[in-house]
Formats: sequence, structure tokens, C-alpha cells
Amino acid sequence: MATRVAVSDGGNKKTSRVRVAVRLRPYMNKEDEKSEGPCVRGLDSQNLEIINWRNATETVKYHFDVFHGEQTTQQEVFLSSVKPILPHILNGQNASVFAYGPTGAGKTHTMLGSSEQPGVIPRAVREVFKLVKAKDESDGWDYSIGMSYLEIYNEKVLDLLSPNSHDLPIREDKDKNILIPGLTHMNITNFADFDKHFVPATLNRTTASTKLNQRSSRSHAILLIKVVRTQQQLPHRQQTGKLYLVDLAGSEDNRRTGNQGIRLKESGAINLSLFTLSKVVDSLNSGTSVRVPYRDSKLTRLLQDSLGGSAHSVMITNIAPEYKYYFDTFSALNFAAKSKLIVNKPFTRETVAVPVLPVKRSREERETGGSGT
Ligand code: ADP
Ligand code: MG
Repeated sequence: MATRVAVSDGGNKKTSRVRVAVRLRPYMNKEDEKSEGPCVRGLDSQNLEIINWRNATETVKYHFDVFHGEQTTQQEVFLSSVKPILPHILNGQNASVFAYGPTGAGKTHTMLGSSEQPGVIPRAVREVFKLVKAKDESDGWDYSIGMSYLEIYNEKVLDLLSPNSHDLPIREDKDKNILIPGLTHMNITNFADFDKHFVPATLNRTTASTKLNQRSSRSHAILLIKVVRTQQQLPHRQQTGKLYLVDLAGSEDNRRTGNQGIRLKESGAINLSLFTLSKVVDSLNSGTSVRVPYRDSKLTRLLQDSLGGSAHSVMITNIAPEYKYYFDTFSALNFAAKSKLIVNKPFTRETVAVPVLPVKRSREERETGGSGT
């Protein structure tokens, strides 16, 4: 019997699914002017439900590989969605982690976090250094770690480690590795090294305000961590593993944010990369042999060798619980999940009359309760 996941058919390349996790950020009073309460809530570690706007006595239930509820800590997200794929980078395999979702739903919190609550990026970089250190001489390989950091803005590829760079080309070599000639590559030997390059570069990101969020990010920020290992003995074989950590542009429908002129053009370009990403993820996860349209946008072209195929990929879809995000949440969930179920259940009454969700514990309390980095 045919299976849909990671089948290798007579020499053809393996096709891996993109694992899909959803993270619901905590409910925020300031995001809910009408005090309507949350319109979405978790059910268990794989399922959530959202009110059906066509009929408020119904909810729509979604199923994912993982559901991270609003109480989930940064450490828990890292442990369940990212840490398991990191050892592959040391074996010359590729991986990618994305944060998808509307502006304000927690993508940057998930990927970058803060100094008190570091996100996926600092945790993953520390872990890669730790894994390399744990390899001893008898392993037979020497390891080196490097980084590049870029953004895709208006379908242009910009080097964040070289502030005045112009649009860079994306190429493919004879072994089907994707590369960007001219992109800065920094060797890094420890976490402090990484931070020294990463922190100022993050400030170079192009941001512009929109009606939805003052600090709305209009570009895709892409951090690449490369692990090259070289055999100590002849013939000194070399293998390269790439890890892409991506904070995507907001997935909101820009027709509703009042964008005009240049912003509208940006929105169109952002939507091209996000739209193509959704087609790529769809065709990877549907298990059919349709052409995967990697070449249709810069983002997917860049990620071609690290998304699907033999790569390990995770998409963390960030969503917000307030009604003002309702339609963007719905569309983000529909992108993330291909199956849904309409359930007859009076969600509204429970959540509006009585606060269903527990009072927020302070984040510090929860974070320090975990094991930290
Ligand atoms: P995005 O990058 O998707 O636009 P942000 O990461 O900037 O969203 O999150 C929006 C706001 O919500 C920020 O103030 C952020 O600190 C907060 N936030 C997001 N996710 C969480 C979370 N899981 N726990 C606590 N605060 C969060
Ligand atoms: Mg952001």
C-alpha cells in the first residue's frame, strides 16, 4: 500500500512533508477594543477551534501536527518543533523553520524573542554550537560554522550583513545546491560571535508602518546557519548542512490595511512570495507528484534545497485570539491545515460571558519555571 509520507520510489528523491505547528499567543486586552474576548482556543496538543462567523453557535475545528497553546513557553516551542531537526545539519542535511502569520500574532516573538524570553533563533544557534562541541576527535570530521543574514523585500534579495548591498541573484550549482554569489558569509566560533553580527544587522531590516501595526514587518528576514564538515583523512570529503530560520512578512490581507502606492506594491510582492510558499507547502504535503512551484518567487527559489525534498522543515503558524484578527486567523489556519471540521457548539456564550481563559501568569514566572537556555 502506498504511504504519503517520506516515500522513496525507485531512486527518486525523497519527499518530506512540512511539519505544521500552530502557536496561539496570549489574549491581550489592548488588542480587543470591544471586549469581545477570544474567538479561538486550543482543545489539546493537536487541535483548536475558532468561532464560525457564518453561525456563531458553531465552531470550526482544526487539526495540526502540533498545537502550542497560549501558555506554551519559548523553551517548549523550541524543544518540540526545532531541536529535533538540528542534528541533521551536522550530517550535511538541510532544514528550515518558518514563522508564518498575521502581523501582531507573534512571529518575531517566536523566532527572535527578547533577552528575557529568547526565541527559536538564539536557542537554535546555541544548540548547534553545543552539538558541534559534543563531537570528539574520533568522529573523524572537523566542523566549521558560518552565518549569512538576508531579507527579501519587494522580491529583492538584500544582504543584512552588508548594509549597502543591492539585489543579489539566486543561483543553482550543478549539484542543485542553491547559492547567492556575493552574499556575506561570516565564520562564527561561539554564540557571542553570532550575536555580534546578528544584533546590529537586525536593526537594518526594512520596516514601515501600516494601519495594522506600527512596526509591521514588510519583509521576509532569513537567517542562514551553515555547518561545513571536512573529513580529517584523505580524501577530505566535505559536507554542508544548511539551516534557514525565517521570520516571514505578515500574512494579513493587505486590501484591508489601507495600503496605497508603494505599500500596495510591496504588499503585492510580499503576497507573491507568501502565495508561492503556500503553493509549495501544499504540493509538498499533498503527496502527489505535481510540480512544486519553487521558481515562482524569490523566497521559495532560495529555499528550494532546504524545503521539502530531503530537507527537514517546520512551519510555525502564529495566530492571535482577538476578534480583530479573525479573518487573518482564519486564512492563516486554512493555509496551515487542509482538513477542518464544523462542530455545533456554543463557543460565544462561554467565552464572552465568562472569561474561559485563565488569568495570565506573568511571563517571567513561566519562563523561569522552565529550564532556560
Ligand atoms: P509579529 O512579529 O507576528 O508581528 P510579534 O512577535 O511582534 O508579532 O508579537 C506582537 C506582540 O505580542 C509583541 O508585543 C509580543 O511581545 C507579543 N507576543 C507575541 N507572542 C507572545 C507570546 N507567546 N507570549 C507573550 N507575548 C507575546
Ligand atoms: Mg514581526
